[in-house]
Parts: sequence; C-alpha cells; structure tokens
Amino acid sequence: MEQEKSASSSVENQKPIAISSELKERILNAFWVCDDCGNAFGRNPKTGTDRLSTYSPGKCDICEEEKIVTQFRDFGYNKPL
Ligand SMILES: [Zn+2]
Repeated sequence: MEQEKSASSSVENQKPIAISSELKERILNAFWVCDDCGNAFGRNPKTGTDRLSTYSPGKCDICEEEKIVTQFRDFGYNKPL
C-alpha cells in the first residue's frame, strides 16, 4: 500500500536566459571588451559620445572575437551576475 510520489521536475529547459558559468567566468575576468559585450554586461553602458575611451584592435575577453576593444573598466566593470 505504498504510493510513489514522483516529483517530476524536468523543466530544465524553461530557465530564464542565464549565462553559463563559463561565460560568467570570462566576464568576471575580463579586461579588454568590445562595445557589444561592455554594453551587455557592463555596469555603465555607453550611451553617449561624451564618454571617451581608448580603443584598440584586439580580442574581446568575453566574446573572444577580434574586434575593437576597450577596457572593461570604462564600463564600470560587470554588473552583478
Ligand atoms: Zn565582445
């Protein structure tokens, strides 16, 4: 007379957009970032042209693409992850 309660919880696919721990690691250790990643993950996205940054060709530490990059510091580093 035993009833099995199967807590079926296979809704793993319905998580909100979460970043992988691998990506998170890259964000936390990023030094050079492209504008796209800086605006996406930075605390202070660049919205105007009054903010000057030094850009140079290089590899973005977050998306790992060869782009024009600047220091993550200029975005105020990462927003809380
Ligand atoms: Zn990038």
